[in-house]
Amino acid sequence: MNPLSIRIHLCPQIPLSHRINDSPGRRGQSRREFWETIKRDNKTVIAVTLNDAVNSPDETGRWLKFVVISDTHDQLGEMMEKIPIPDGDVLIHCGDMTNRGEKEKLEALNEQFGQLPHKHKVVVAGNHDLGFDDTEDWSKRHYKYPNDGTREGYKLLTNVTWLHDKAHEIEGIKIYGSSWHPLRGYPFYVDRGEKMAAKWMKMPDEVDILITHAPPLGYLDTFGTERWGDYDLLQAIEKRNPKFHVFGHVHESYGSATNNRTTFINAAACLKSNTLSNKPIVFYMKVPNS
Ligand SMILES: [Zn+2]
Repeated sequence: MNPLSIRIHLCPQIPLSHRINDSPGRRGQSRREFWETIKRDNKTVIAVTLNDAVNSPDETGRWLKFVVISDTHDQLGEMMEKIPIPDGDVLIHCGDMTNRGEKEKLEALNEQFGQLPHKHKVVVAGNHDLGFDDTEDWSKRHYKYPNDGTREGYKLLTNVTWLHDKAHEIEGIKIYGSSWHPLRGYPFYVDRGEKMAAKWMKMPDEVDILITHAPPLGYLDTFGTERWGDYDLLQAIEKRNPKFHVFGHVHESYGSATNNRTTFINAAACLKSNTLSNKPIVFYMKVPNS
């Protein structure tokens, strides 16, 4: 357990609405009005049964089994011993693989990934994977991590496919990964509003599985009394309707939910204190034309 971790995930006690630009949004509402609506709108989120798997393959065609983990914070090896990671065709890690992105930790992580049996392994970085964001201004780093991390640390992860603003296809299933989030002081930080919206515009029109580190607004994004999810990410999702959106980041909101078009999965393995707690989440997806 990293004693600093509790504070890392706490943000100043400012309601999130103060940080949302008041420009026009969905259904003609301003962003602020939309925010006020979704805060009250519990009906938007429909829980999916969570017996490790959120769906099951039907009998026709070929299905791939996806196993999703996130926020292991330097404890993937420990997780492999304590909370078994089911075998499957594709392993996805949604970021915060490390706490600070040190070289030794990345090397150990890469070895652990190498030991896992999944044929395909796809990851995105999280805000704690320090050094993974080539565009980061290190002078704006959170005061606790001024020079931490490994520049181009993703190059050490040779046993996985690392995605950032990048598409990847597995047996015709279209995957897209991106790490942008609105938590200031970390790699991949972007201001909410226009700048964030521009990042999500890079997403292709057709996506079956979207992988981000942080949640969209309103889905498994509750931290205490705040919602940490991003409005513009939700807009991008509602336009494309990927079958699955997987993420982590908000440790308190592990689980799954659906809007009947997209199934959302927050697979954060750790609790607030970075104590390992939650099991991987499994979903199945049919191979196109199979
Ligand atoms: Zn985390």
